Amino acid sequence: MPGVFGAGGLQALVKGGFPVGGKRVVVAGTGPLLLAVAAHLAQDSAVVSSVVEQASLGQLARFAASLWEHPAKLAQGVLYRAMLWKTSYRIGCWVVEAIAGSNGHNLSAVRVTDGTRVWTEPCDLLASGYHLVPNTEIAALLGCKFRGTFVQVDKAQRTSLPNVFCAGEPTGIAGLEAAMVQGEIAGLACAGISTTLLQKRVAAERAFGESMEKAFALRKELRSVPRPDTIVCRCEDVTFGSLHGYTGWTDVSCRPDAAWVRVRAASAAQSWNFFWDGVLSRFGSLFSLYHFKRFAFRMKAWKSPQRTNRSRRKHELVWRNACNDNTVRLQHEG
Ligand SMILES: Cc1cc2nc3c(=O)[nH]c(=O)nc-3n(C[C@H](O)[C@H](O)[C@H](O)COP(=O)(O)OP(=O)(O)OC[C@H]3O[C@@H](n4cnc5c(N)ncnc54)[C@H](O)[C@@H]3O)c2cc1C
Repeated sequence: MPGVFGAGGLQALVKGGFPVGGKRVVVAGTGPLLLAVAAHLAQDSAVVSSVVEQASLGQLARFAASLWEHPAKLAQGVLYRAMLWKTSYRIGCWVVEAIAGSNGHNLSAVRVTDGTRVWTEPCDLLASGYHLVPNTEIAALLGCKFRGTFVQVDKAQRTSLPNVFCAGEPTGIAGLEAAMVQGEIAGLACAGISTTLLQKRVAAERAFGESMEKAFALRKELRSVPRPDTIVCRCEDVTFGSLHGYTGWTDVSCRPDAAWVRVRAASAAQSWNFFWDGVLSRFGSLFSLYHFKRFAFRMKAWKSPQRTNRSRRKHELVWRNACNDNTVRLQHEG
């Protein structure tokens, strides 16, 4: 629905000149990212009417108490909140529906719940963000070992493969500071320079990342928000209901249209993480050139009487280009 954005996506658009001045915005989802995005939108003269945070008051209180070890982050949070002093911060609440206006297209309001009551909040834009999903494709492609959904690294950011280092969010979500220090460590370790002091900083940042993960874990109610007719992938109009019965990505990938869901999922993940959380968590490690190629091969073999030749040709072409692009890039990279 026009007017509904991923939180990071809307921030990126605004940075690129998308006008939000005077527009009523609801920022919903979970995590400190919501405050960062809301503050940025407010700075651009948007009217941020509320920030809707799904984490409970207890979880947030525990997280806030742990912030004394990270004064810079605490100060940043306080600053953001001060910038949003007119905005309601709704804790333990989540958006259950986006409502279109009288023209049937643009967003006009969202329905919000705290689990017991439901109310409507008028808005022109919804920025929805349920965690970040890092790009781990290259590590998966190279054959690096994974620790759950993240690339496994040692203290010097070495992966399981000799001479392959990994830094930043593919190794765990812990914010900008952690990503930058990890990059520094990886660079120094490559040059054979000791990184012991920097490793202590990373350990502190990792601890922050872990407490954030606990505090903003998604509540189970969010998994029942999508209805069977909710469109999961707009490119192919794949509905949530049509994915019912599939047990994992390998399973889903038998369907060419759902294969597209995989491709688009990374960008959709911020707004759809309640659904993708379970499925996407496996997606990162599975998503590789190998899978791209397998899908491309399947696409060629795919013949569906329901589709026109034009639509099929378009899909084959896009898949082939995707594979070629990746192959060429990898050849260049040696
Ligand atoms: C909207 C938003 C607001 C945020 N605000 C804050 C904040 O206020 N404070 C904070 O601490 N953190 C914030 N973060 C998180 C912070 O941006 C990340 O923690 C940090 O950028 C992670 O650094 P990184 O190097 O791991 O990844 P990135 O900065 O995302 O860099 C990864 C780069 O790799 C490129 N890439 C990915 N895959 C491929 C590929 N296959 N081939 C070639 N290139 C590829 C990407 O294009 C990108 O340029 C925010 C994040 C978002 C999305």
